[in-house]
Amino acid sequence: MRFEVLTIFPRFFETYFDAGILKKAADRSVISYDVHNLRDYTHDKHKQVDDYPFGGGSGMVIKPEPVIDAIEHITKDGSERSVILMSPQGEQFDQKMAEEMAHKGEDLLFVCGRYEGIDDRVRSYIDKEISIGDYILTGGELPALVIIDTVARLVPGALGDENSAVEESFSWGILDYPHFTRPRTYRDMSVPEVLLSGNHKDIWLWRREQALKNPLMKRPDLLEKAELTDEDMKIIEKIKEDITK
Ligand code: SAM
Repeated sequence: MRFEVLTIFPRFFETYFDAGILKKAADRSVISYDVHNLRDYTHDKHKQVDDYPFGGGSGMVIKPEPVIDAIEHITKDGSERSVILMSPQGEQFDQKMAEEMAHKGEDLLFVCGRYEGIDDRVRSYIDKEISIGDYILTGGELPALVIIDTVARLVPGALGDENSAVEESFSWGILDYPHFTRPRTYRDMSVPEVLLSGNHKDIWLWRREQALKNPLMKRPDLLEKAELTDEDMKIIEKIKEDITK
């Protein structure tokens, strides 16, 4: 799966793509990246990408010509890709959307805004507008990285251990269970005995109980949407009883 970005700050992406799981996945050709500098698509000697807003008001607006020229140039190879505009007004990104993108495997081109945003006429060249949350960042670079990071690790073969993406928060509809590593005891805090028992069924049950307890206490809204089994419902009843004791 290929991730492309159109930005005025291509260097932001270099360090991120050059480390950790994303680098390993790229080295194994599971995913690939291409970062395009919006300024390469300007036609003046100052490589200006922004201009004053018509109608007045504060801030600058990214001009339509370099963005549309860039999208046309990048997509003229004819390969299937979705052009995504990073925008606080877009559909809200979440784990489900990430899973759908990774499952579909379609190449993605992220268009990063800056200043007050991009001239609205680019909209007809955009397939989808995505927001990462109800807050305003200075640019679309971090939102694009958030999405690329989340989707890339779900692409089959990107993670060393495929199960690690299955049992995570949100992926199984609820939150993750607590994790522990060595030492067994640190500053009087001990690892729960059950995790040292070697009994896989007990360990699974304990983890499931913790994973259900977490949203019950922290995010009850998640439980309403989660696909719960009869056994989960029994565990939840038991947790509720324990809490009210
Ligand atoms: N004037 C815009 C508004 O009020 O909706 C905000 C522009 S913001 C300062 C500049 C750029 O950052 C946006 O064009 C977009 O690309 C990106 N951006 C900011 N917040 C974002 C968010 N929550 N999700 C996705 N992109 C965001």
